[in-house]
Amino acid sequence: MDHALRRERLDERLRELGVDALLVTRLPNVRYLTGFTGSNGQLVVGANESVFFTDGRYEHQSSREVPDVRREIYSETFAERAAAWGRAAGVTRIGFEAAGLTYKGWSDLRDRVAGAFELVSTDGEVERLRVAKERSEIEAIARAQACADEAFDRVVLGGGVREGVTERGLARSLEEAMRDAGADDLAFDPIVAFGEQAAEPHHSPTDRPLAPGDVVKLDFGAIVDGYHSDMTRTVALGEPRPELRTMHDLVAVAQRRAIETVRAGARLAVVDRAARGAIDDAGFGDSFPHGLGHGVGLEIHEDPRLRWDADGELAEGAVVTIEPGVYVPGLGGVRIEDMVEVTSDGCRAMPRSTREMVVL
Ligand code: ZN
Ligand code: ZN
Repeated sequence: MDHALRRERLDERLRELGVDALLVTRLPNVRYLTGFTGSNGQLVVGANESVFFTDGRYEHQSSREVPDVRREIYSETFAERAAAWGRAAGVTRIGFEAAGLTYKGWSDLRDRVAGAFELVSTDGEVERLRVAKERSEIEAIARAQACADEAFDRVVLGGGVREGVTERGLARSLEEAMRDAGADDLAFDPIVAFGEQAAEPHHSPTDRPLAPGDVVKLDFGAIVDGYHSDMTRTVALGEPRPELRTMHDLVAVAQRRAIETVRAGARLAVVDRAARGAIDDAGFGDSFPHGLGHGVGLEIHEDPRLRWDADGELAEGAVVTIEPGVYVPGLGGVRIEDMVEVTSDGCRAMPRSTREMVVL
């Protein structure tokens, strides 16, 4: 991954932003621009050079992960260090990430800077660079997805969905199977929801045991080399009620319609509405209360957001989820979620697990 090239691309934006330098404090952005994987690191891009800041715990690790950027190890607060750097560099306007500082962090920095230079709020600059993935990033996401596919095979198709297993128990099995398959970590705590509990779009696994006729909604993913995967499948233990079958068929149609509209240049809102229209037409419009999907990469939820009210269009090389769902309180819910890689003339779905409502 060419971190220097990424920093150059950001550097080129500084003039348009009207700043001498940009202070990058959101960790996924620091990682994207440097390769640093620790829990405390900041980066300044611009003012003739990039500087990476961290504390003594990461002196050795950062020398390995960030060999091509001047590093400063600090023991004071970062606000003090950053203010001192700005004075020494003679900057007049420095951008900061609005989403990368707490109110306290910003107040501390403002007090330290005390008029020496101006702090300028910026929003989503590095996130925008991250939308179109490089080949190596897409490969990492695919490896993470392969761990989830393997867990689906081993746990779901391999006998783990059985009468009496609890949501918690099934979640643990999925976690273990993903780690066994090579996941560095979980992309998020798996959502495992049985029967009527599947009517909650997000749901924390409980001790509810699985019973015949229940649907089983599973939303899970892995992390490999910092990159996430995200997939939802809805299966059943024994034949579910016909209404749930109908809901699954509808969600599958909605997902297909949306996927058919995906290509570089497609409007985000148009892709969302392709799925939403199918669900509306079937009379379930009120039962699909979330956006259609989101970007996936160094974060589980990142740009672009596929929503009915979103501005903008899909970029070639973006990886986004297409995840329509229908949720009916008291009955259950169905969601089908696949990551797709956006190409110039369409898209490539990344999971290999079947989207069918497998009856176990
Ligand atoms: Zn998901
Ligand atoms: Zn998702």
